[in-house]
Amino acid sequence: MRNINHYKTMLTGAALGVTALLVLQHAPNAFVDSSEAAGGMVPGPNAKAPDRYVYYPGTEVLDEDEVRVVACGTGMPDQRRGQAAACFLFEFGNGEKFIFDIGTGAMRNLNALMIPPEFLTKVFISHLHTDHWGDLDGLWAGGWTAGRPVPLEIWGPSGQTPEMGTAYAVDGFMRAFNWDFQTRQFKITPIPGQITVHEFDYKQINEIVYDDGEIVVRSIPAIHTGDGPVSYIIEYADLKLVFGGDTAPNKWFVEHTKDADFVIHEAFAGPEYFKKDYGQPAQLAWRACCEFHSSGPAFGKVMSEISPRHAVAYHTMEEAHQQLLLDIRSTYDGPLSVAMDMMTWNISKDGVIERMAVSPDRASAVPGPTPQPGPDSSVPNPMSEFTYSGEWGPGFNAQNDMLDEFSKENDLKDVDWRPSKAWYKP
Ligand SMILES: [Zn+2]
Ligand SMILES: [Zn+2]
Repeated sequence: MRNINHYKTMLTGAALGVTALLVLQHAPNAFVDSSEAAGGMVPGPNAKAPDRYVYYPGTEVLDEDEVRVVACGTGMPDQRRGQAAACFLFEFGNGEKFIFDIGTGAMRNLNALMIPPEFLTKVFISHLHTDHWGDLDGLWAGGWTAGRPVPLEIWGPSGQTPEMGTAYAVDGFMRAFNWDFQTRQFKITPIPGQITVHEFDYKQINEIVYDDGEIVVRSIPAIHTGDGPVSYIIEYADLKLVFGGDTAPNKWFVEHTKDADFVIHEAFAGPEYFKKDYGQPAQLAWRACCEFHSSGPAFGKVMSEISPRHAVAYHTMEEAHQQLLLDIRSTYDGPLSVAMDMMTWNISKDGVIERMAVSPDRASAVPGPTPQPGPDSSVPNPMSEFTYSGEWGPGFNAQNDMLDEFSKENDLKDVDWRPSKAWYKP
């Protein structure tokens, strides 16, 4: 994927609503070539359109020095069907895929991209609010059931005390889901249920938290409701990308993300929105937006200071985007996206292409090339003879015709689980 004309055609497309509108204000020459308007001229009634400014997941190979970012969640902590909480998937030209935050509801969007679970194993968490890691269970158990052969790896910050850090949180996660773990590891296979945690000092400033020789990830502290939250700076193929977690305007962000190619930073709706439309009391509304988060004018001021090649605002209900845009434009007039779920960017030294991903509501799991290991016979069976003794034979035997046929087709005679059962009537 490398065609910078996409960007130009996107600029002229009205389909992206708010986003297109805001970019147009700053690209007055975008209408120069009408043949490229709204996705490109269609040469005849039965002809193929040259361009549709949409991204069909799984159909494009990235260039080696290119990064694709998909917004898998851009909203708030309270669940809604149409917008998930924070999650950004970074896909690198070398094949690596990193998930930055995995907030509540995000797995529905992530799964809609139909990426085999074995390629979604690395998660970077900005902080431990549920709207930034609440859907870890879906990735963990869902990916395990859908064929992931390996454990998950999680990077996240420490806290003021061990109990406020990422390792403690993941340890608690594993305790909370112990029944799930024990039963799934027996029925499926144990290894993919493990989670490796890489906890790092939240106070470190622009220090490396990940380095595989091609991708480097650094962290900087954020200011948000308590010690611990961080933002991430990602370096790949001479590109500098930033994923900002929740933060009020902070000096570390301004100092260390200057001139970055692609900068994601939260931008909250203003206090009036939180009071009128979100139902918060006024005393909370003006602090939520503006003391432990960044509102539109604050976001814009930060972006004007760091001057990124492309800025992305997220963490606001989509119905408040129009006002948010006006708020941001009061302090920033550079390249900008107000992110919506499934917005997609291709980033290279040639420029930034923005499109919307088109994905199915009912995506199913897709296999990758690596087979998942089979069951491990050393894992203890979490079901007792008491429970087995309640199996009702006629119900089980009613499935025999279907299972016999399946066994024949898949050569399962040697692993038939039925003959040892007292109720079995072939
Ligand atoms: Zn938060
Ligand atoms: Zn948040």
